[in-house]
Amino acid sequence: MTQNELSNFTEEQRTEKIAAHLAEIITLLGEDVSRPGLLKTPVRAAKALMYATQGYRQDAQETLRSAMFDHDGSGLVMVRDIEFYSMCEHHILPFFGTISVSYLPQGRIVGLSKLARVVDICARKLQVQERLTAEVARAVAEATEARGVLVVARANHLCMKMRGVEKQDSTTTTIEYNGVFDSDTALRNEALQALLTH
Ligand code: ZN
Repeated sequence: MTQNELSNFTEEQRTEKIAAHLAEIITLLGEDVSRPGLLKTPVRAAKALMYATQGYRQDAQETLRSAMFDHDGSGLVMVRDIEFYSMCEHHILPFFGTISVSYLPQGRIVGLSKLARVVDICARKLQVQERLTAEVARAVAEATEARGVLVVARANHLCMKMRGVEKQDSTTTTIEYNGVFDSDTALRNEALQALLTH
């Protein structure tokens, strides 16, 4: 089925279809989907999947632009350690951690809670950590027209921990920046130090 064919489906209809496929997957895994403990699992899991991927049905720009304010200052704005939960697009397994967002405003600032919302919107879909980091940086840069944006993401990937290489304690860090953080190395290092030092 293509996205075009799905465009008229309601959220309930999508959830129903996903649940039917999940029932088949559970059976293929070797389970009896009719046993009491699993009876409602396909629908519950379908709802959980829809929740974990609601970013597809939300708009980061609209969210940011709904809370923009004029601002005279030009100092660094920094929100550290915004918690996020995403799903790796290669294995559909969770990866999760924190994202820190920093930007240098240019006449406009965005409501701080909106930065957390944008992290959620970009995280709640099938992602790779590198693109998640870049999408947050781009969304903030576009909406605020900031002089520069710097985003640091740190995450644990279940596909690394519970399968494959089984590296239990590895953390992945990705860094994305634009504007003055790209051209001014000293400024970038200063911001990075502030973001990374705990
Ligand atoms: Zn993976």
